[in-house]
Amino acid sequence: MPRSADLNPVAPGLLALASAGNFSLLEERAAPLFDCQSCGACCSYSSEWPRFSTEDDAQLDRIPQDYVAADEAGMRCDGVRCSALSGEVGKSTICGIYDVRPDVCRACMPGGDDCLMARKAHGLPAL
Ligand code: SF4
Ligand code: SF4
Repeated sequence: MPRSADLNPVAPGLLALASAGNFSLLEERAAPLFDCQSCGACCSYSSEWPRFSTEDDAQLDRIPQDYVAADEAGMRCDGVRCSALSGEVGKSTICGIYDVRPDVCRACMPGGDDCLMARKAHGLPAL
C-alpha cells in the first residue's frame, strides 16, 4: 500500500499549469488521486499478491517473520488479506511494515491498473 504522496502521476503537468497562471485547475489537479490510508484494497485482494520478487536478502530480513508466509515466498495472508494490514478496507487502514514492505507493494500506484482492479473488487469507486 503506497502512501498517496509517494507518486502523483499528474505532477509533471503541474509546472505547466502554474506557469499558465491557472491556479484553480492546479489546485484541483494537485489533489491526490486516492488516499491509500482510507483504502487498503490492494492489501486485501489476493493471497498471491504480496509476493516477494526483486528484494535482496537484506530487505527481506527486515520484514518481521510473523508476517512472512510459511513458504517464505511472500507475505502471510489471512484469506486474501495481508497479515500486515490493520484497519477496515475502504475506511481506514495502515500497513504495519510500511517502511520495509515488499517491492510489489511499492510498485502499486494509486490510480494504476492494479489499484483500480483491487478497488473495483471491493466496490470502491475509480476516478
Ligand atoms: S505488506 Fe503492507 S503494503 Fe504490502 S500488502 Fe501487506 S499491508 Fe499492504
Ligand atoms: S488500491 Fe490503490 S488507493 Fe487503495 S491502497 Fe492500494 S494503491 Fe492505494
